[in-house]
Amino acid sequence: MIVVMKPGAGKEHVQHVVELVQEFGLKEHVIYGTDRTVVACLGDKRMADKGAIENAPMVERIVPILAPFKRASLEVKKERTQVEIGPNKFSMGGRQVGIIAGPCSVESRDQILRTAEAVKEAGCIGLRGGAFKPRTSPYSFQGMGEEGLKILAEARDQTGLAIVTEVVGVEQVDLCAHYADVLQIGARNMQHFPLLEAVGRIDKPVLLKRGMSAHLDEFLLAAEYIMNEGNDQVILCERGVRTFERYVRNTLPLAIVPELNNLTHLPVVVDPSHGTGHAHLVPAMCRAAVAVGADGVMLECHPDPEHAASDGAQSITPEGLKSMMATLKRIAEAIGRTL
Ligand code: PEP
Ligand code: MN
Repeated sequence: MIVVMKPGAGKEHVQHVVELVQEFGLKEHVIYGTDRTVVACLGDKRMADKGAIENAPMVERIVPILAPFKRASLEVKKERTQVEIGPNKFSMGGRQVGIIAGPCSVESRDQILRTAEAVKEAGCIGLRGGAFKPRTSPYSFQGMGEEGLKILAEARDQTGLAIVTEVVGVEQVDLCAHYADVLQIGARNMQHFPLLEAVGRIDKPVLLKRGMSAHLDEFLLAAEYIMNEGNDQVILCERGVRTFERYVRNTLPLAIVPELNNLTHLPVVVDPSHGTGHAHLVPAMCRAAVAVGADGVMLECHPDPEHAASDGAQSITPEGLKSMMATLKRIAEAIGRTL
């Protein structure tokens, strides 16, 4: 980080900052400009109390140089991370864009096996489906629990698709990891720190969704919690944020994809289902997500959306999925990728 002194700061003010910096175990490098002095601080700035330095006399501001997210940062690790998922070891973050589709919730064996076949047939690489659901109301369908996980595992055995399912609590991490290929951390749990640490301690890929009001740096710091425990297999997922707008359930900020690609080596996936809330908007936003450089798209697809136990309004049908895939493939090819 750099401490920028106010114009007119005297030698004694600079010296005071230098002493503070040294007290925090950092090395200082003072640069005297024509009308301003800055103090560059070298070392692990986590040791420093930024607030204390900012409060020192004649300090204007502190400018961080390295991003606060170390392990997720592209500044620290230059090559892009590829996360291998599922029995076929699909590389999320590689040249091929990965499409993951499936219902919001696992409702029955028949529903999942039928959907899995259609999803596979359409050319997707993963099947999503929640067995544990984080519902706004305690009276809504909460998911089938372990029974649902068993059905998902059966669908993987039949199709080779990677299974993505949400883990809602720390106590379910081992159970979900036993059946699934990718553990999803939902938007509501993005800052459930003990849960992030728990999935950080297992050897399974994690799909981390951005919280509905989380800033980009908070999102990456949540990823940092997982990686800091030793699990580098993190896939970031943008799923829309809450705004004043009402024609959509959430506003899908696709500019985050190129921005994340600038800041982090982790693969980025977009969820246009939760990102819009309406099935008719999903195909267009899938196309846009691929065009802006997402490594993958995760969307909701249900064989009978009208009777879905959750999120029917934003679920496209298997036919809709199939017809969308050809266009996505052309867009991927136009930007030098495959699908
Ligand atoms: C989901 O994927 O079904 C889900 C609950 O997503 P989110 O956490 O983004 O709301
Ligand atoms: Mn859903």
